[in-house]
Amino acid sequence: MLEAIDLSKSYNGSTALDSLNLKIEPGEIFCLLGANGAGKTTTINLFLNFIEPSSGTVRINGLDVTREPLATKKFLAYIPEQVNLYRNLTGVENLEYFTALAGGKYSRTELMGFLGEAGLPEGAAERRVGEYSKGMRQKVGIAIAIAKRAQALLLDEPTSGLDPKAANEFSELLLKMRDGGGAILMATHDLFRAKETGTRVGIMKRGCLMAVLNTDEIGHADLERIYLDHMHD
Ligand code: ATP
Repeated sequence: MLEAIDLSKSYNGSTALDSLNLKIEPGEIFCLLGANGAGKTTTINLFLNFIEPSSGTVRINGLDVTREPLATKKFLAYIPEQVNLYRNLTGVENLEYFTALAGGKYSRTELMGFLGEAGLPEGAAERRVGEYSKGMRQKVGIAIAIAKRAQALLLDEPTSGLDPKAANEFSELLLKMRDGGGAILMATHDLFRAKETGTRVGIMKRGCLMAVLNTDEIGHADLERIYLDHMHD
């Protein structure tokens, strides 16, 4: 569903991503770990076609994102660290607006249903987003992905700044989307959540994917040790 083939990106001659090869199948959560500046956001932005590759190919559901940008967007939902919503609209009004932008038309009951699935109670859905916590905004982001029936989900540090309970709820939602057949790529600094939620984790350093590990084959302490070993020069 998500595929990078020899994917590279340079900015002014300096390499941000170096020949990435990665395939994420439906029902998989791939967590990308790495220090600040390792190339995680660059990878996600290439999948989103926000930036153009210097070389290589990105495919979503077999389609090249630079050749078929509109068709590939249909499969995708994106949740950044801060989900951008209209502060003066309620949660349900935001959902209505963003799903309409993607060509969806839903009744109020359906919209409330999506928000409920994402864990936002009805009372909250009718409050203005300006009053929301970060965790509540992330839930609206998930509701948008659910309504869009996105088959691929790209997440850039979605749990950073969430309290442990909110981060746990968020991870539960990701697992539900994975079980529904979603292919998920998540950049994160949270080793614990990566091990708990991810099917595989990738360790990135200076634009290179150094290691890929199956989370069911390692413990939390192993992951931390392997990660730190890779961070040494
Ligand atoms: P973080 O954990 O801090 O979010 P990251 O792993 O997401 O880091 P990237 O944002 O992908 O890292 O950055 C990779 C490299 O590309 C860094 O060296 C960064 O300075 C560089 N870079 C990213 N965007 C640009 C840009 N627009 N112009 C020039 N260099 C950039």
